[in-house]
Amino acid sequence: MHEMSLVMSIWDIVETEIEKHQYRIINEIELEVGESLGVISEFMETCFDAVKIERKETTKTKLKIITKQSIAKCNRCNRTWDYKDHWYICPDCGISDSEIIEGKGIHFLGMEIDE
Ligand SMILES: [Zn+2]
Repeated sequence: MHEMSLVMSIWDIVETEIEKHQYRIINEIELEVGESLGVISEFMETCFDAVKIERKETTKTKLKIITKQSIAKCNRCNRTWDYKDHWYICPDCGISDSEIIEGKGIHFLGMEIDE
């Protein structure tokens, strides 16, 4: 499960942001997660609470996950399709020479702050 390492890197960002902007209370952290990562939101939330940084700014912080559809593209015929329907196999060529062009990573969308 890679949720734990993803969450730990998110906390690194949060900590840096707190120091940089002197935020007082972080209510919520919003993330966009590509479907192709196969992340389980509930598990991610559990990890999030487990590795929460111990500081007053984050005692009530909640995680909000927005799942982004993953689109795959065939490198041979350039066809695009919904990743979860065919994984890496092109529905036209039947080969697995493809890449994810959308919804392939995790993005930090922002934080809701109490000034
Ligand atoms: Zn193809």
